[in-house]
Order: sequence, then C-alpha cells, then structure tokens
Amino acid sequence: MPIIELRNVTKKYSNGTTALRDISINIEPGEFAYLVGPSGAGKSTFMRLLYRELKPDKGTAKIVDFDLIKMKKRQIPLLRRSVGVVFQDYKLLHKKTVFENISYAMEVVGKKPYEIRKRVMEVLDLVGLKHKVRSFPEELSGGEQQRIAIARSIANSPKLLIADEPTGNLDPENSWEIMNLLERINLQGTTVLMATHNSQIVNTLKHRVIAIENGHIVRDQEEGGYGYDD
Ligand code: ADP
Ligand code: ADP
Repeated sequence: MPIIELRNVTKKYSNGTTALRDISINIEPGEFAYLVGPSGAGKSTFMRLLYRELKPDKGTAKIVDFDLIKMKKRQIPLLRRSVGVVFQDYKLLHKKTVFENISYAMEVVGKKPYEIRKRVMEVLDLVGLKHKVRSFPEELSGGEQQRIAIARSIANSPKLLIADEPTGNLDPENSWEIMNLLERINLQGTTVLMATHNSQIVNTLKHRVIAIENGHIVRDQEEGGYGYDD
C-alpha cells in the first residue's frame, strides 16, 4: 500500500486562490522524493494537506493508514504521530530545553518516562547532539536547531517524514549535514518527502523529483534534476 495516495486533489483557499488542481500521485514506502517548483507553485499547500493542517476540497487522499477526507478531527493527533514534520524555521519551543522539545512529542502519545528518556537520547545520538540535551534552542546554531527539529520529528518513529525547505536557512555545510541525516533516516525505512529550492542538493543527491507549477504536477521523474534557474 502506498504511503501517500492522492487522486484528483484540489485545494482552494477562502480568498479564491486555487493552490492545487487535480493532483494525483502515489509515493511508496521507503521512497525519497523531492518536491520542487517556483515560489507560489503550491508546494507548501501540498505538504500542509499531508499532515492535515489543510483539508482537500475534492478528490481522495490517503496518508499512511488515514483517509484525509473522511477522518474525524479527533484522529488528527493520531495521524501526526505517523507523520514527522520539519520546517525551514525549525519551530522549536524556545522556552523549553532540547530534552523537553523532543520529550513533549512523546508525552502526548502517552509513553512512559523511562521510555521517553531512552528515546530522546537515542534520537539525539543519531543527530550527534547528545551533549546539547540541556541547552535551550537560542544557545544552538541554526544547523544544530534543525538537527534537533529532525530528532524531534522522528522521536515517535513515523512512517513518513515531510520536510518543507529544511535547508532554506542554512549554509552549504550545514545543509549537507541535514541531507546526510535525512538520507540515514530514509535508509532506516522512513519515507521522506522534501520540498526544496536547493538545486545543488537535488542535482547531486539523486532521488525522485516531483515538480509542481501553478498547482499542477508538471514533472515526476526517478532520479530527476532540479530543472529551474533559481
Ligand atoms: P509554494 O510553497 O510553492 O511557494 P504555496 O503552497 O505557499 O506555494 O502557495 C500556492 C498558492 O496559494 C500561491 O498562489 C499562494 O499565494 C497561495 N496561498 C498560500 N497560502 C495561502 C493562504 N493561506 N491563503 C490564500 N492563499 C494562499
Ligand atoms: P555554526 O558554525 O554552525 O554557525 P555557531 O558559530 O553559531 O555555529 O555556533 C558554534 C557553537 O557555539 C555551537 O556549538 C553553538 O551551540 C554554540 N553557540 C552559538 N550561539 C550560542 C549562544 N548564544 N549561547 C551559547 N552557545 C552558543
């Protein structure tokens, strides 16, 4: 069964902007796919549908085991447990420590304190930041904050990881470090979907490329290139 299965999905904002038109796509378990396209093409809207921050207007949409159209509001937290999300601006909680930022996501799920402590250290180890467990986000560099955000996103072992421009605020060295982590997470079995404007990354680290323009999928290639000049 696909991890993402969209059929004829349309999304219109309340101001009348149709951000996505007739989108159909499957993404299979274990895939790594880039989502590319000019600004305003619909990439963020596409991502926001997948973790159900937005609801599709038309079509059918299944993510992991959830039906995005038919699911009840109270099932949304359950969906978000199966889908990790990483943003360009990290979105860490600034008054909480690294430990609390990561443990919070697991407390919501009802894990036991010793399980939480073990898992927090495990994911911090994966991103190489065990020594920052007691730090606050402001005390970390941008690259480190993004690595913490990635640790948080995988704490509940999601089947799907969605990353919206995860390297958008980072220099090349930190960007490659983030890509290295996403690759490792993907190799451990997590499906990764990443929206990006980084042509170097897309053209070097070859994966499936899905291009959106003006709300339409205009290209879908195994091991594609970036294909834009920006
Ligand atoms: P991208 O992520 O590719 O830059 P978006 O999904 O953010 O594209 O935007 C797609 C289209 O939807 C654009 O025309 C944008 O202006 C519009 N849009 C995005 N968010 C909203 C919103 N909250 N309300 C109205 N229009 C929006
Ligand atoms: P980078 O080279 O990744 O941009 P920085 O130069 O920002 O990193 O930071 C280098 C080190 O200093 C990092 O380990 C970071 O955690 C630490 N650091 C950065 N800013 C602060 C701060 N305001 N307080 C404490 N430690 C900081």
